Amino acid sequence: MRFDVVSIFPEYLAPLELSLIGKARTDGLLELAVHDLRSYTQDRHRTVDDTPYGGGAGMVMKPEPWAQALEDIAAAAPPAPDKAAAPSPGAAPARKKPTLIVPSPAGEVFTQQLAYELAGEDHLVFACGRYEGIDERVLEWAAEQYTVRSVSLGDYVLNGGEVAVLAMVEAIGRLIPGVVGNPESLVEESHSDGLLEYPVYTKPSSWRDRDVPEVLLSGNHGKIAKFRREHQLRRTAARRPDLLDKLDVSNFSKTERNVLWELGYAVVDGRAVRRTGK
Ligand code: SAM
Repeated sequence: MRFDVVSIFPEYLAPLELSLIGKARTDGLLELAVHDLRSYTQDRHRTVDDTPYGGGAGMVMKPEPWAQALEDIAAAAPPAPDKAAAPSPGAAPARKKPTLIVPSPAGEVFTQQLAYELAGEDHLVFACGRYEGIDERVLEWAAEQYTVRSVSLGDYVLNGGEVAVLAMVEAIGRLIPGVVGNPESLVEESHSDGLLEYPVYTKPSSWRDRDVPEVLLSGNHGKIAKFRREHQLRRTAARRPDLLDKLDVSNFSKTERNVLWELGYAVVDGRAVRRTGK
């Protein structure tokens, strides 16, 4: 899988040389290149921004350097054959467009589900905006060569797209087979099944008058699994009830339904519905 990141602050992306993503790059599991947007400018001052049409505060990123950067990146890494497209006799194989991710607080929200979806792509290109963002025409024009997606890290505003890209590349990169040593650790994580992860503990079993829950020391795998499931539900209900509202609980066991009941939920048509007065 290949990642290209375009930014006016390429040094901001240096952490992607560290830890599991850095190791995955060294091991050849993923390719990642960072490009300086200013190297695609034509003027002496390497200008990347200008005043907004219509007036208002702030500056807007100019279209020309972006077009040059995105054209060069697309040309340097020709699209892979589209495995999903049906071959027509005698025709050249259909090519899959790379995906252009444009971080923006006005985009669709980045979730674990989207991370899984993007981890299945061959080539992701990230366009880090600054100031008031990128001239809108770049996104329209880029759709000829890329599948374009505006993606938000959450409902708050950052100074630039670089922090969002660090988060997205890490979340996507760790899903590429081989990047995380033990793939089991991806299975029971928060958001992998629509719930938050259960609390975790390590040695010593007693620390500053606080004991690890006894069941975790029992060696009884059935009881441990039950404890963890219960605490997943409790934690999700307490911290992220919006996740419980969205969950399909039609396959929940009697024990799980009892925990939901205790937490103030009834199961109605496969959904956890808050009981009135709870
Ligand atoms: N004027 C823009 C708006 O209100 O939608 C915000 C621009 S922001 C100051 C500058 C850049 O930071 C954006 O172009 C985007 O690349 C990035 N950014 C800010 N907040 C973000 C978020 N929540 N998720 C992803 N990227 C974000």
